[in-house]
Amino acid sequence: MDSKSKFMRTLLFSIAFLTLQTFLGQDKTPNIILMIGDGMGLSQISAGMYANDNSTALEGFEYVGLSKTHALNQLITDSAASGTAMACGVKTLNGVIGIDGRNNKHISILELYKEKGYATGLLATSSIAHATPASFYAKVHSRRQYEDIALQLSEHNVDLFVGGGKDFFLEREDKRNLIDEMTQHTFVNNLEEFKKSSADKIGFLTYGEEPPPKRLGRAPALEDIVETSLQKMKAKETPFFMMIEGSQIDWGGHDNDTDYIISEFQEFNLTIQKVLDYAKANGNTLVIVTADHETGGFAITGGSLKRSRVKGSFNSKGHSATMVPVFSYGPNSDLFAGIYENTAIFDKMLITLKGATE
Ligand code: MG
Ligand code: ZN
Repeated sequence: MDSKSKFMRTLLFSIAFLTLQTFLGQDKTPNIILMIGDGMGLSQISAGMYANDNSTALEGFEYVGLSKTHALNQLITDSAASGTAMACGVKTLNGVIGIDGRNNKHISILELYKEKGYATGLLATSSIAHATPASFYAKVHSRRQYEDIALQLSEHNVDLFVGGGKDFFLEREDKRNLIDEMTQHTFVNNLEEFKKSSADKIGFLTYGEEPPPKRLGRAPALEDIVETSLQKMKAKETPFFMMIEGSQIDWGGHDNDTDYIISEFQEFNLTIQKVLDYAKANGNTLVIVTADHETGGFAITGGSLKRSRVKGSFNSKGHSATMVPVFSYGPNSDLFAGIYENTAIFDKMLITLKGATE
């Protein structure tokens, strides 16, 4: 064989190999990381950004969309109805989790991903039985049924969960000890144990009740919990679905407290950066960052760019109906551009799952 035909043969092999690689690459199912800033409207993001030297990790995303947050027949949603919309793809009444207005229970996107062999994780800076994380595993008529919600989590197969609310598992009216009953899960008590654990399924209940605000010393930091969780997910060598909630941005809004909002956003922002870095380094990871609704009718009415100071004003002690932004990065991120109902976030995640398995 002369050198020219040798070269041609090498070239053809290379093309065939690259084509195969591209094909396999496209066929590989993507990880999905859904990040929900509870009550994180555009003003909350803007305030956090200005307070952070006019910068946010969200600037590194590829597409931005807007989500309509209203509940089934109420203009102003709560976290249960909007959590259900994103998790299960249906509008429902305020206060209801995983059940629609006709009393039908709905399977969540986490459960659909689980069925396809994905590893799953839920991480929150509230109790793990609070409305937002509960929307991904529970079906209850009232978000206040915390002990029922905890029971449903104990019977669920979420691989990894981190959040407060340990008392709902231990200090129960039915006297059951759900932690003892969850024999498939290993429970850890602090970040060091969490990091060290090589268990397949892990529960980390960080506080008995609701975790305190970040500025009052909530620990461990969400970005550290997420970094460790990502390492554990990566080690499983199956694709994963993870929901990460910055839960207390909402509580700052309810308190009409700009500094509370900003301190919670800052931790969430650091976590978003960690997740985005992971997606960039590992590839094949769809990251979606959004909110369930805006809280406080918050507006920025003054401040100083130079001194990274923001002065806020509030129109409400509750939620507002303004649309919330959706930021996306990675495979199928283009699906999240445009204006759509919050239920479409479920639909778009489902398209990603189906596209990945067909
Ligand atoms: Mg929440
Ligand atoms: Zn709220």
